[in-house]
Amino acid sequence: MRILIVEDEESFIDALRVGLAREGFDVSVARDGQEALEVFDARNFDVVLLDLMLPKLSGLDVCRTIRSTSTVPIIIVSAKGEEVDMVLMLEIGADDYVTKPFRLRELVARIRAVMRRHESAAAPLESESIIEHGPLRLDVDARRCFLNGHEVKLRKKEFALMLLMLENPGRVLTRDVLIDRVWGSDYVGDTKTLDVHIKRLRTLIESDPKNPKYITTIRGVGYRLEATTTSAE
Ligand code: CA
Repeated sequence: MRILIVEDEESFIDALRVGLAREGFDVSVARDGQEALEVFDARNFDVVLLDLMLPKLSGLDVCRTIRSTSTVPIIIVSAKGEEVDMVLMLEIGADDYVTKPFRLRELVARIRAVMRRHESAAAPLESESIIEHGPLRLDVDARRCFLNGHEVKLRKKEFALMLLMLENPGRVLTRDVLIDRVWGSDYVGDTKTLDVHIKRLRTLIESDPKNPKYITTIRGVGYRLEATTTSAE
């Protein structure tokens, strides 16, 4: 697994280089935005860890440029207290983000998650009619949803929302993406509709809809189906 670390703080570079090599990664380092693009062009990488504040070119510019030619998973790293527009980051194609300081273990888990998603997205399209995630199971062809083996009756849009989330576990889905994909890009109605549907889904699948474990809210951004959920209780 080849990882490109784009980072200008030496202390971070050292820690990441050692820690990620120990996890089995083949680590390359670029210390500014310009170098990042050069190194990226010169080799194939499986994942990119991209600091936001960089000399020469910002992390956002690097992300945008890489994304114009590659689908490689990109994780943005921001420093604590930095003003970060998460919606913008996701829109320009970042797959995930972490905030410094972070634990290596958390970072590695995120890296593996984005790589898994990337691989499954790249896999040839088979008609996957059963999608499972923890206690949730969707029978796509039959349009049926099950929680711990018990059927949960969903309406059409609710099913479409569930399907989109189960196809992207652990990923933040922005409000725009959810509305575009479920209601269509020409949707001009009240965007509160989305929240109403999420609320109803929670009452159906969450044991405590006010403290959701499955569908969590990313304030100001959108929603996420938690990737780590494994049991119903
Ligand atoms: Ca920096």
